[in-house]
Amino acid sequence: MTSLLSVRNLETWYGPVRALHGVSLEVQAAQIVTVLGANGAGKTTLLNTIAGVLAPSNGTVEFEGRLIGGKDADEVARGGVVLVPEGRQIFPFLTIAENLRMGAFARKDAEIARDIEQMYDWFPRLRERQRQQAGLLSGGEQQMLAISRALMGRPRLLLLDEPSLGLSPLFTKDIFAIIRRIREQTRTAVLVVEQNAAIALATADHGYVIELGRVAAAGSCEALSQREDIKEFYLGGA
Ligand code: ATP
Repeated sequence: MTSLLSVRNLETWYGPVRALHGVSLEVQAAQIVTVLGANGAGKTTLLNTIAGVLAPSNGTVEFEGRLIGGKDADEVARGGVVLVPEGRQIFPFLTIAENLRMGAFARKDAEIARDIEQMYDWFPRLRERQRQQAGLLSGGEQQMLAISRALMGRPRLLLLDEPSLGLSPLFTKDIFAIIRRIREQTRTAVLVVEQNAAIALATADHGYVIELGRVAAAGSCEALSQREDIKEFYLGGA
C-alpha cells in the first residue's frame, strides 16, 4: 500500500544547527497521526519542512506518490497539503468571512460559499461573528478560524502545529473533537504536532515521539499510551 505521505530520512538544518537527524514517518489516507515531543525536539521543524516553509538538506517527502520535499510552500499547499502554523497567523484586520475566502484563494470552483457554510456548521461561533474583525476573536476562536481557513483550500492532508497552544482545556477538547469529526466527514488526513500528549493520543490513530530531532518511538496510539516510558515522560506519570 502506498502511503498518502511518506517522509524518509529527513534532515533539516538552521545554518550550522541540525534540527532533524533523519526522520521517517508515514501518514495513510484519512488517518490522524500525532507527533509528540518536548520543547525543541524538532516538531515544528518537521511540519515546516513537509509544508515547504523550510527546505530539507537530505531525505525525501512524498505526497500521493509525488516528491514535494524542497518545493515552495504555496506549491505544496496547491498540491493538497495545508499547514496551520503555530500561533495561527490569521489576518486580524479582515473579517472572519474574508479570512475564510482567503483560504480558498487557489480555488476556481463554484462551491466556495457552500464550504463557508460547512465551516460555520462545524464552528458555530464563527457564524455568529462572521462580520467581525478576526483579531477580536478569542484565542480558541482564532484557532477554529485558522483550521477552517486551511480547510477552505480542501486539503487532502492538514498539518496542525500545536492547536491547543494557549487554549483552555474545554476549547482544546472542542478542537480535537472537531478534528475527528472533520476526518469522519471529509476523510481528510491530519498530521498534528501537540504538547498535550493525553488528548493527542486519545484522538489520533498513530503516533510518533520525536526526541532531539530523531524518532524515539512510534506505534498505534493505543500501544503508545500503554508504554511506561511514555506515561512517565508525556502523560505526567498517569
Ligand atoms: P516547540 O514545542 O518548543 O515549538 P519543537 O519540537 O517544535 O519545539 P523546533 O521549533 O522544531 O522544536 O526546534 C528544533 C530545534 O531547532 C531546537 O533545538 C531549536 O532551538 C532549533 N531551532 C528552531 N528554529 C531555529 C532557528 N530559526 N534558528 C536556529 N535554530 C532553530
